[in-house]
Amino acid sequence: MIIDKDPIQDKLHVDGLDLLRKPSLNRSMAFTAQERRDYKLRGLLPPRVRTIEEQAKNVLANFHHKNTNLEKYVYLMDLQSRNHTLFYYTLMRNLPEMMPIVYTPTVGLACQEYSEVYVSGRGLFISEDDCGEFDQVLANWPEDDVRVIVVTDGERILGLGDLGANGMGIPIGKLALYTSCAGINPRQCLPITIDVGTENSHLLEDPKYIGLSKHRTRGEKYDAIIDEFITVAQRRFPKAVIQFEDFGNQNAFRLLEKYRHQYRVFNDDIQGTAGVTLAGALSALRITGQRLSEQTILFLGAGEAGIGIGNLIASAMVSEGLSLEQARQRCWFVDSKGLVVAGRSDLAEHKRAFAHKHEFVADLLSAVEALRPTMLIGASGMPNTFTQPIVEAMARFNQRPVIFALSNPTSKSECTAEEAYRWSDGRAIFASGSPFPPVTLDEVTYNPGQANNSYIFPGVGLGIVISGARHITDSMFTAAARALVEQVSEDDLKSGQIYPPLATIRAVSANIAEAVANIAYDEGLAENPKPQSLTTYIQSQMYDPQ
Ligand code: NAD
Repeated sequence: MIIDKDPIQDKLHVDGLDLLRKPSLNRSMAFTAQERRDYKLRGLLPPRVRTIEEQAKNVLANFHHKNTNLEKYVYLMDLQSRNHTLFYYTLMRNLPEMMPIVYTPTVGLACQEYSEVYVSGRGLFISEDDCGEFDQVLANWPEDDVRVIVVTDGERILGLGDLGANGMGIPIGKLALYTSCAGINPRQCLPITIDVGTENSHLLEDPKYIGLSKHRTRGEKYDAIIDEFITVAQRRFPKAVIQFEDFGNQNAFRLLEKYRHQYRVFNDDIQGTAGVTLAGALSALRITGQRLSEQTILFLGAGEAGIGIGNLIASAMVSEGLSLEQARQRCWFVDSKGLVVAGRSDLAEHKRAFAHKHEFVADLLSAVEALRPTMLIGASGMPNTFTQPIVEAMARFNQRPVIFALSNPTSKSECTAEEAYRWSDGRAIFASGSPFPPVTLDEVTYNPGQANNSYIFPGVGLGIVISGARHITDSMFTAAARALVEQVSEDDLKSGQIYPPLATIRAVSANIAEAVANIAYDEGLAENPKPQSLTTYIQSQMYDPQ
């Protein structure tokens, strides 16, 4: 069984202050009078017994009293390190409000200040100084049955660049979402930061910096470090999914290709982003009544997000009957130098499959005019690049232009929701990476979608854990995207929403997990026996903080 339904009954032989200091067992003032007697807690807590609802109400009031988002983050992280049950109970019931604090955008701010807000014991730092002895480092983690590891080397944290060991906030935040969105037991989640140095000059000079004060290790030595980590992690936690997170561009694609057919790994920046964007595109097509394989898609930005989306969309087009070559021909990229075309000598390996024969054009507007795309997807990290003439051109060529401005945080978005609607006379089907509030123009209200990766990765992770899939395939992300689209109601679509409400995320993740597990069983990748009813089994395994 994945989930420890009642850890207190878990014969851990912890009581008294030790029990209150164990976040997975601590219920603080919610311990009943009988429990206080049984576990030697009398006198260690104020006499009043509070229900979890009362505790959560207090947490919410305290949360609202904090003046800044960073203070809110620190408050929630402190609660997480004291009392899992209360933290997750409150987070799950206030997800739309708290997710932007626990994760992007506030987590980015927290990573920038991580040397100040760091609290020990929340994850593993694997330092290159321990190379050759990673097995001993991993042995120090107190839980044996880890099922999800999120690992970063801190080189490309969100849109903020190299934050070295300060990137630890990201795996911690992502795993909080695994638990709150998909019910992975927090005891089975392990955040890891591999410290191989940093190129961030500010951190290198900062005496308070918590990581190694040295330039990044690269090349063969770096590869050996990652190799040792993966080998040791799989040996120590053989049932764990390993999610690569916020690695730099030059390593992310390479490491994924190297390990994906060998181990249970995926990269959320590449594959999770692709899944959620494919789902957005498929939802948009429910509005326009067209097929994916008829689309011409133009991307601004050919990095992890853009190329990851291109690859998954191409494979979804293949499942609609196109050859891979025909499918790729429908996806075009503009990078910082201009249109990605055959004959360009400056193209990184991951862009080459999308370098088609075409006259080179240097700017996005010319590319839009030349290619007449039906969908325009921004993943460039460059704000204000979807200009009025570009959006107007999209609206000229399409009755319902699909425009996704995915760059994070909000200040980096290629255009705002309001600009997309205004410049297209309200016809754009719009989604962004960071949330935008609804927009009212001429008394009509438009609801922009948020292509939030947390619609996809927690459900995918749960499906892998349930089935014990040995590898994580593209078809699982396509299945996850399709399962997500099924959760979008006709009413959502009518109001312009191409994703389901965030408040329904647990049900969404359970459905995605089922779709992913089914692929694992169908493709012969599952190590766990198939339960009679996957639906019931998945529900029974999801952590419920009570
Ligand atoms: P990346 O660094 O791997 O790629 C960025 C790409 O943009 C590179 O190909 C670069 O050449 C290109 N670029 C830079 N300047 C450009 C310009 N002026 N014109 C055209 N292209 C330019 O980063 P990434 O991981 O691909 O992320 C890109 C953006 O997407 C980030 O802002 C990130 O926050 C966002 N993102 C959003 C989601 C989401 O919405 N769910 C998920 C992942 C990433």
